Amino acid sequence: MRSIFAKRVLALAAFALLATGVPSTAQTGPATAISSEKLAELKKQAVEGVEQRRKLAQVMNDKIFSFSELAFQEFETSKYITDILEKNGFTIKRGVAGIPTAWVARWGSGSPVIGIGSDIDCLPKTSQKPGIAWREQLVDGAPGHGEGHNSGQALNITAALALKDIMQRDKMSGTLLLWPGVAEELLAGKAFLVRAGVFKDVDAVLFTHVGSNLQTSWGDSNGTGMLSVEYSFHGETAHSALAPWRGKSALDAVELMDMGWNMRREHLRPEQRSHYVITNGGDQPNVVPSEASVWYFIRETDFANISKNTAIADKIADAAARMTDTTMTRRVIGTAAPRHFSKPIAEAMQANINQVGLPKWTEDENLFAKAVQKLVDGKQEGLATELRPLATQPAKLESGASDDIGDVSWTVPTVALYYPANIPNVSIHHWSAAMAMATPIAHKGIIAGAKVMAMTALDLLTRPEIVTQAKDYFATVQQKNQKYVPGISATDMPQIQMNKETMDKFRPEQRKFYYDEARYDTYLDQLGIKFPAITKP
Ligand SMILES: [Zn+2]
Repeated sequence: MRSIFAKRVLALAAFALLATGVPSTAQTGPATAISSEKLAELKKQAVEGVEQRRKLAQVMNDKIFSFSELAFQEFETSKYITDILEKNGFTIKRGVAGIPTAWVARWGSGSPVIGIGSDIDCLPKTSQKPGIAWREQLVDGAPGHGEGHNSGQALNITAALALKDIMQRDKMSGTLLLWPGVAEELLAGKAFLVRAGVFKDVDAVLFTHVGSNLQTSWGDSNGTGMLSVEYSFHGETAHSALAPWRGKSALDAVELMDMGWNMRREHLRPEQRSHYVITNGGDQPNVVPSEASVWYFIRETDFANISKNTAIADKIADAAARMTDTTMTRRVIGTAAPRHFSKPIAEAMQANINQVGLPKWTEDENLFAKAVQKLVDGKQEGLATELRPLATQPAKLESGASDDIGDVSWTVPTVALYYPANIPNVSIHHWSAAMAMATPIAHKGIIAGAKVMAMTALDLLTRPEIVTQAKDYFATVQQKNQKYVPGISATDMPQIQMNKETMDKFRPEQRKFYYDEARYDTYLDQLGIKFPAITKP
């Protein structure tokens, strides 16, 4: 641990600034400049405010875990969160960007406007009881939080409520704007929020994402941006045995497209990642399929190569249609820009990370973590014990996954905070990543994250130079080599019908397992799980 204000000189400079007539408090207008001693005091109070909300954080985390809702179907989750925020004085706008489960919650007035976001959706087929180190589903075949998106809003709200107390008491200028990452697991939400102008008056975005350490980064991020697009082919049915020559097979077109892409992928940059699922392969073998569809994710590390590879996929789809005398239509389902994070804000956040440090894990928590790591053949090193240094712009980008926070990061200065609510070395998009997500590990991880969030927001509220520097970095450094290329057009629509059938099927069963915080202290208590349960009885 080291003090963020090691240099007295800084404090004196800030004091001098104050003495020259910068207003110390204001209802509206620019951020409120204060001395670094005063800021340190406010941060201490914010940390206390977060500590006082440990119970609330645990309840929110466990409750959202128990809802386990897929992309675009986060109805229980959104209702629960917005009710809490509304009761706490936030003004809620629901159904933003044409997405029924998206919302914006505002509190405060004036600048800076700080956008605080985190994802809320879960993943198919990852239903898992928490706190046990073996595979056991809550509801067979149901969706589950196999990544840990149940924890981010609990963190954000905990931090926001602690901040609100301080801002209200000190009549600080500033607005908190909380928002959800809807359908992040489909990479199908945030670009629509951007297009709808959700971030129009936002000065900076502090985004949180579940991880296994407390960390942040600046610059281009390892990983990819992507386009999610479904190609549908339209032909003619016929009797597959009696008169196959009268049919035009849409399934043939899908197979030809996939073959074409699989040949072509060898001649693309190794940074590309692409994958597909056949979403419609026809009805039955004795009817030539007149309709067939294949859904592609096309990923690359920069805007130019995403566009280039998308054009290749379009051409192959078009050629497949011509080979089969079918017609082709395409539908954009989602997109994610490659991520780029703000250096000035990340540096401020890192100082707070260093001050907060990692949670002190108990022997039981480490025992559980190691058991889960063993179960999935991960390195058995237990929970994170060492902070990582601030991750800086990599010399060469490594390919990998995408997150549609990328679109936000090209719209407004943004940083992402990863917090240690999960176990290192588990497999994500997998039930093993759900095992810790309603246990003391998750609860401690979100408290650590909430402290960093509240402290960093205080930096933005009271040190206007960080906001100015972030805007300058965004304009002159971030956009030097490439500018935002939105993956969606003005007419692409959010695919809000997706996952409805699946959730309609599973929700009645899942409902029986919703966390009842009035009756049970924790979700583990409700499920009768004695943490940590290491061996299957
Ligand atoms: Zn995620």
